[in-house]
Amino acid sequence: MSLEARKIRLLMQLRRAGITDTAVLAAIEKVPRERFVPPSFRDQAYENIALPIGLGQTISQPEVVATMTQALEATRRHTVLEVGTGSGYQAAVLSRICRRLYTIERHADLLKEAEARFAELRLHNITWRRGDGSRGWPEPRRFDRIIVTCAAELTPEPLLEQLQEGGCLILPVGGQGRTQELLRLRKTKDGIRQEELGFVRFVPLVADPVERRSAG
Ligand code: SAM
Repeated sequence: MSLEARKIRLLMQLRRAGITDTAVLAAIEKVPRERFVPPSFRDQAYENIALPIGLGQTISQPEVVATMTQALEATRRHTVLEVGTGSGYQAAVLSRICRRLYTIERHADLLKEAEARFAELRLHNITWRRGDGSRGWPEPRRFDRIIVTCAAELTPEPLLEQLQEGGCLILPVGGQGRTQELLRLRKTKDGIRQEELGFVRFVPLVADPVERRSAG
């Protein structure tokens, strides 16, 4: 079966799984997932599975990417932050939906590869940084939407601070080897409203140790 035929089969699977947002389906159709996986996994690029991308990390399962993207309710008016660039695939999908996409990754080598893919695919509305995304974007900034593609034990407070009122944050919460739950947190003028979107399995969000300040 050709990659194109496999992609059509995947899009049908996503529809059956409840992905109805046409902007999300169109973005998944347009972004060549085979360019985001190592060459030895190219044949499996349109299987509905997560695949290894090196350094113990993964490119997420297409159904999870689609579910999180749909739940984010992003539009052309929105600026979005992604924590966990990984291969760059989720960023590429989102960049086709939102106005500007900021993405942060702690592994310099993964970021370098993702950066080359963004250039090759001419995705000019993506800004990337190496760093610890649990601290939020390094410069003070507000985002309309935030998506975290690694699992935190608790929602990182800096992300809630950088979320615009009226915006939402999608993230998996829970430890490794334990059940992780996908949450949508909406920031309203009365506080944070939480919705549970189902169970998932993600690699951990690894926060840098807090620097110790020497006395005197
Ligand atoms: N979104 C990615 C994609 O489309 O390929 C998949 C991400 S992978 C499941 C999770 C990523 O989060 C890994 O690349 C990992 O290095 C990164 N990560 C983990 N902790 C992080 C942190 N504190 N800040 C930024 N990135 C982090």
